[in-house]
Amino acid sequence: MPQSKPILKVAVPTPLRRSFDYLVGHHAVPAVGTRVRVSFGRQQLIGIVVAHTDKSTTPANKLKPIQEVIDSEPLLPDTLFNLLVWAADYYQHPIGDVFTTCLPSLLNKGEPAILEPEYCWKLTPEGQAAFPKLNKNAVKQHKILHWALEHQGIIQAFDLEQLELIPSELKPLIEKGWLSKEIIEPSAQGFVQSSDSLVLNQEQQQAVETMQKDIGQFHGFLLDGVTGSGKTEVYLQLIEKVLLNRQQALVLVPEIGLTPQTVQRFKRRFDCDIAMLHSGLTDRQRLNIWLKAKQGLTSVVIGTRSALFTPFADLGLIVVDEEHDVSYKQQDGFRYSARDLAILRARDEQAPVVLGSATPSMESVHNVNQGKLTHLTLRKRAANAKPPHIKVLDIRQRPLNNGLSQPLLDNMQRHLEKGNQCLVFLNRRGFAPSLMCHGCGWIADCQRCDKHMTLHLQQKRLHCHHCDKQVFMPKKCPDCGAPELFPVGLGTERLEQALITAFPNKKVVRIDRDSTRRKQAMQDYVTAIKNNEVDILVGTQMLAKGHHFPNLTMVAVVDIDGCLFSADFRATERTAQLLTQVAGRAGRADQPGEVVIQTHHPEHPLLLNLFTQDYQSLSQQILAEREAGLLPPYSSMALFRAEASSLQYPMEFLKEVSQSLSHITGMDCFGPFPAPMAKRAGKMRAQLLCQAQQRGLIQRALKPAISQIEQLPSARKVRWSIDIDPQDPF
Ligand code: ADP
Ligand code: ZN
Ligand code: ZN
Repeated sequence: MPQSKPILKVAVPTPLRRSFDYLVGHHAVPAVGTRVRVSFGRQQLIGIVVAHTDKSTTPANKLKPIQEVIDSEPLLPDTLFNLLVWAADYYQHPIGDVFTTCLPSLLNKGEPAILEPEYCWKLTPEGQAAFPKLNKNAVKQHKILHWALEHQGIIQAFDLEQLELIPSELKPLIEKGWLSKEIIEPSAQGFVQSSDSLVLNQEQQQAVETMQKDIGQFHGFLLDGVTGSGKTEVYLQLIEKVLLNRQQALVLVPEIGLTPQTVQRFKRRFDCDIAMLHSGLTDRQRLNIWLKAKQGLTSVVIGTRSALFTPFADLGLIVVDEEHDVSYKQQDGFRYSARDLAILRARDEQAPVVLGSATPSMESVHNVNQGKLTHLTLRKRAANAKPPHIKVLDIRQRPLNNGLSQPLLDNMQRHLEKGNQCLVFLNRRGFAPSLMCHGCGWIADCQRCDKHMTLHLQQKRLHCHHCDKQVFMPKKCPDCGAPELFPVGLGTERLEQALITAFPNKKVVRIDRDSTRRKQAMQDYVTAIKNNEVDILVGTQMLAKGHHFPNLTMVAVVDIDGCLFSADFRATERTAQLLTQVAGRAGRADQPGEVVIQTHHPEHPLLLNLFTQDYQSLSQQILAEREAGLLPPYSSMALFRAEASSLQYPMEFLKEVSQSLSHITGMDCFGPFPAPMAKRAGKMRAQLLCQAQQRGLIQRALKPAISQIEQLPSARKVRWSIDIDPQDPF
């Protein structure tokens, strides 16, 4: 009898939470972890073999053979493959979609997993000679040659983005013999000349020494260091040890913290291949980084959340910088937490993991309390910087001019007179959060959401920040025809104008998502600020994170009151983090910093606590409240969300979900309720919250229930999802 071939369990990109069985057919048996092409309904899809089996629940006459084997060996190292399989199970997400989310898009399209040569362009002696004689009108050529001259005669593929060019635009210069196109040979993981290391202070030294002992084995650390305490320097010196051990390092950074500055700092330090995964890469560049890391040709990978899924030949360290940042949790599709998975990955890779923050999440503080993470603290600011002085400014009954009180302006004046910079923080972009009619009280609401539309005066538009709908600003009231429409409330655009009026001789810049749309914009602002070409910075939380501006000595928080009263149980934690981070921008170098917080609630416990104690003791207090209320991290949660054109359908569906879960002891279901913002983008939304005290119970209980829920007739009338460990109640 011929040896029978196994049946293949294949993860296919579909919304169903299961794999599908296929026969091998006449092909050689594909290993677990390889890609295969299969027919699925009327489509042809690329899937991943997740297991071999000898039994199938599909009747034998329904089983189809696969059509093609794409890879001759598994795509992912075992550790990463197992992590994805585990995560699909934990987050109750379709395994096929987990792979699609985590793999580079070219691999999802079936491209071979082969490293293609990468090119750079070198300035030739002819090019060098031609530069001074260039015609003034040849703007592009001038720009290209100038760049090459400034960068050791080399233009890299990723420079083209900054130059706002595409490769074909270099062709004329190649034809003239001014540039030559050359293949970059991947350097084998060479070592590592580190330069410019700083002499660590005692706390930093202690942190590096402690963590260094665990290179080569799993250990979780929380590096809890106040803003400006030199956490990055600690990462760098630890990474150096890892590289000396001939291993690789992965550094995760939040979306906004991913500034070229960070990468520059790494590149200056280490003479080895350092890759940065960011949204500006082409699909090919992304795949090449992925393959180089897998083959051990890249030593350090820096990237946002999804960089966690980079394969490595020998991963020796994971750093999660600003671990409290919400951007580590994906908010749609495969709703994973990169921070939580980083710990699991480190365990599987037998590597240490460092979670770093000035304002650690309650989850991590809790893990420290339970002995799951080792706590390392940096209490002193590095170099000579002192912690900032914090003032709560009571603005009850004080006149406000565009949200600014006179004492605040006077305070700014004092700093500006000394030639220092001020940051004015307001977490609301646009000119004003709404537009109202003086005649009849009409207010500009979004037709598709339960929200007002934000006025963007510069663009003369109303913009809904929730569904992205944009309309021209009306010239008169659509209801009564009155021409007097006035903005209500305060956004960064309005604040910017008010500050220009208040300080006519000072240079004001606004930094928010609107003003940084152009690719290079953020970098240009940062350079201008560092060069002292800016006096006043107005901005949203984009400015709160990670930046180091030595001449910034004052931070003004204009309107925080909205954050003090929120129904979300995480609001206190989030506000404490935001305020501490913003405050941390002040006085990071030799000059002392000052933070002024305007508020109508000076006696609010959060404000009192935050500035009479430190974040550390406040977080223990927040944890005590969570424990008393049996809230995470003392319980775990899962949130079902559903939406449809009418609220009735999601409510009906979630009610049935709730019934199908009612028999589970130890798990409570709350709801269904309409979502906090019930109408969004034209859909009516509802949710059902499941909560259990025992960790793991939700997973065990939901798993069998989910396949029933998928079959409910009411499920077909809605779009629904499940969010494990939800971070955002909306
Ligand atoms: P964090 O990441 O904790 O906010 P950084 O690592 O960015 O802090 O350090 C803040 C500033 O202090 C940087 O300018 C850095 O160069 C400087 N710094 C860090 N460690 C030292 C040290 N040991 N000696 C002198 N300066 C240091
Ligand atoms: Zn009106
Ligand atoms: Zn809207």
